[in-house]
Amino acid sequence: MQPMITSLPEPMSTDADAGLTIQPYGALLVADAEARRVLQASRNLSVLLGMVPDDAMDRPLEQVIGARLTHRLRLELQGETRLTAPLTFSRWVGGRNQRLQLMAHRYGERVMLELEPLTGSGRRRLLGGVNQWLTRVAGANHPDALLEVLVAGVRDMTGYPRVVVYGFDGLGHVAAVAESRHAEYPALLGQRFAADALPPHLQGCDGDFPVYYLPDAAAPAVSLTPQRDPLQGGRLEPQASPLRAPSTALRRFLDAIDVTSLLTVSMPGDAGVWGMLVCHSDTAVSLSPTRRDATHTLVQMATQRLFLLKARVEAGFLQRVRDSRDLLSEQRGQPQSPHALLEAHGREWLGLFRAAGAVLIHGRELATLGTVPSAALIDTLAERLAGEHQHVGPWHTHSLADHPMTAGLPLAPACGLLAIPLPTESGRDWLMLFRAAQDDSHSWSGMPGSARPAASPSAYPAMRAALAAWQRAVRDSSDVWKRIERLAAMDLAEVLAIVASAHEIAGLNRELRQEKAALAEANRRLERLALRDPLTGAYNRYRIEQTIDAELSAAQRYARDCALLLFDVDHFKQVNDVHGHEAGDRVLIALTEAVSGALRGCDYLGRWGGEEFVIVASSTSLSEACRLAERLRALIAGLEIDGYPEHVTVSLGVAAWRPGDDRKSLVARADRAMYRAKRQGRNRVVSQADRVNEAARPGA
Ligand code: GH3
Ligand code: MG
Ligand code: MG
Repeated sequence: MQPMITSLPEPMSTDADAGLTIQPYGALLVADAEARRVLQASRNLSVLLGMVPDDAMDRPLEQVIGARLTHRLRLELQGETRLTAPLTFSRWVGGRNQRLQLMAHRYGERVMLELEPLTGSGRRRLLGGVNQWLTRVAGANHPDALLEVLVAGVRDMTGYPRVVVYGFDGLGHVAAVAESRHAEYPALLGQRFAADALPPHLQGCDGDFPVYYLPDAAAPAVSLTPQRDPLQGGRLEPQASPLRAPSTALRRFLDAIDVTSLLTVSMPGDAGVWGMLVCHSDTAVSLSPTRRDATHTLVQMATQRLFLLKARVEAGFLQRVRDSRDLLSEQRGQPQSPHALLEAHGREWLGLFRAAGAVLIHGRELATLGTVPSAALIDTLAERLAGEHQHVGPWHTHSLADHPMTAGLPLAPACGLLAIPLPTESGRDWLMLFRAAQDDSHSWSGMPGSARPAASPSAYPAMRAALAAWQRAVRDSSDVWKRIERLAAMDLAEVLAIVASAHEIAGLNRELRQEKAALAEANRRLERLALRDPLTGAYNRYRIEQTIDAELSAAQRYARDCALLLFDVDHFKQVNDVHGHEAGDRVLIALTEAVSGALRGCDYLGRWGGEEFVIVASSTSLSEACRLAERLRALIAGLEIDGYPEHVTVSLGVAAWRPGDDRKSLVARADRAMYRAKRQGRNRVVSQADRVNEAARPGA
């Protein structure tokens, strides 16, 4: 429910000194609290009762209105503040039988009795009409349609040519939200009044007298006699009786809109007045009490139905938000970024919440949709919110310009903000909905989903001034955020938090995987740098020495074979000299590739220096190593090298581990063998055992 107006400003009566005067269509008797004696009476008493006020004064009430009526009155007023229904009685006045009705209520230490003649207008016809309109009210299925039925029904039942419903919005401003009128009457639909400048007939409708009837504003007011209140010495306040004569302010206001007769019926809400039904006529209107009662009943029924429909509209709104939330929830499996979320659902949320823009902040991401302030301003807002708004509920304002937290920030055209903290750990994630000025929005606070008639300049100058005053009053404010909207937004935020967090976690995982891959790659690069020869990718000198040492100590410990092959490219200087240094490089790379491909997993190739390479062959005997060497020699000799037109050959020296060997001695033996191979003519294998390995010579 939107906030209600629980108390309206008192009528600004300038006639307070004059005290209570009444309209001449009824007569007033003031009695003591026990309804025993008459204290005051209106000067027109004789018109209704055939008794001059002076005769009634200080008399027992029985002698003025009769014993039976007095008895019934006392009975029905026992423990009550007012009669639930009027009492009717007859009186011979001026030679004819006058039917009258009596209403009574307590006012301080008094009982106030209002008397009114009953005119004999067809009661049956009236009942038929009331029933017809009640049925139509009961059949209306939307607040807007209901109000249309109500104004039409009241116009039909009362004959007033213009009937308007005014609604109070959440800020106490008033809008004319429904109207039925004769074509000659200027429209009031869409008229607005600011809360602090309500016209007199909308002020002070405190529910004590839900109906105020002014048949003829020009009729002279009737005073009481005695004028002073015998109990308190002062004068009775105007609000003591529903018969009260119009205040000067009211008469002046009615004059300004050419109204002579007025009927107002207040429309009670759960916690105060929701609105007012107002009937206007430019001529005097005579309406029997019965007809007024019937009108009151219709308004009451319509108001009750209005609240039912309003609850229904709100339930519908809540359901639509929940549907949107459930849709989100179903997509939990496919995490979406805040941008994607707003893209997919944001338009619908703007519609549901009557917002002009939305912002979704989650983690480091900020997504926006529609008309929203700049990213820098949103950052400032989010920072202030995080600092000042600590609880889980939404933060909201309908006036960013006036709120201490946001005043001074140039957030226009945004006027209202509903900021819902997402229930995430950080406390810095938000869904923000921005609203434009209420003047520009197309529904009214009283009814979600109801069309509010556009504010339009009236034919009456006084109304135009009131409209301008209202426009000034609401210039920087949006519609208020209703409780139901705040609740629904929290619902939404809960699921948003889950979906956006899933997205964030997926993102973090992705980053983690990428970081892990990058780390592994860095490690590989580091290893290459530390352990590999940058040109060929073979083990570098340092690494291959380590490998030789490790293999030698394993051979020592487990009495296992181990062999070393050392080879050097033949006439490599010429390769460089004839084909260039780059070609030489290509040759070294091609050789490394070919040799690596021909080795077992447990053999190691290292670049010993320049065009000289070493192979460590674990668990390999001298003869096995020689066969390997020969295989490699033949492989290299037959190698076709990209971008190099000739074949290259290598000379290999082979040595096997012997007990007592260290790296130096083993390498030295292999080196000596290799130099023998060079000396013997190159492109051959020589082992430590050979003086001359004729078998390895090509063509042998
Ligand atoms: P031999 O058959 O006696 O081994 O004759 P050789 O020409 O191969 O021997 P020498 O030691 O005279 O020449 C080796 C050449 O290898 C000298 C040097 O410029 C070249 N060299 C050493 N390292 C590299 C390298 O990384 N890239 C290139 N392109 N050439 C290199
Ligand atoms: Mg060489
Ligand atoms: Mg060399």
